[in-house]
Amino acid sequence: MVLQAVLARLRGDGDELLKKALRCSSADELMELAGEHGIDLGESEAVELLAFLQHRPEELTELELDAVAGGSGLVTCLLCGSTSVTYLRDRYGIKEYRCNDCGRVFGIR
Ligand SMILES: [Zn+2]
Repeated sequence: MVLQAVLARLRGDGDELLKKALRCSSADELMELAGEHGIDLGESEAVELLAFLQHRPEELTELELDAVAGGSGLVTCLLCGSTSVTYLRDRYGIKEYRCNDCGRVFGIR
């Protein structure tokens, strides 16, 4: 399972589980937490997830915002569906991206 899929699962159960995950201080705790919620988390994945949660909270915030838009944790072009997009700017609370494939600019709240 890739990291983003794990994060999507954590989010799928609501913010509470994600917050609990953020409070975990060891991979064992994360695995136990995941297990309680029916998420199959391997040890190497738990270690990777722990490092991500502890050292990159700003990326996590981006993932959360993106997930609200796409549900997958990835930003996809609204016009052609490509996941190859470049973040441009945040304008009035809307994140603007340019699609690397079709070149269109689109905004995601
Ligand atoms: Zn596109």
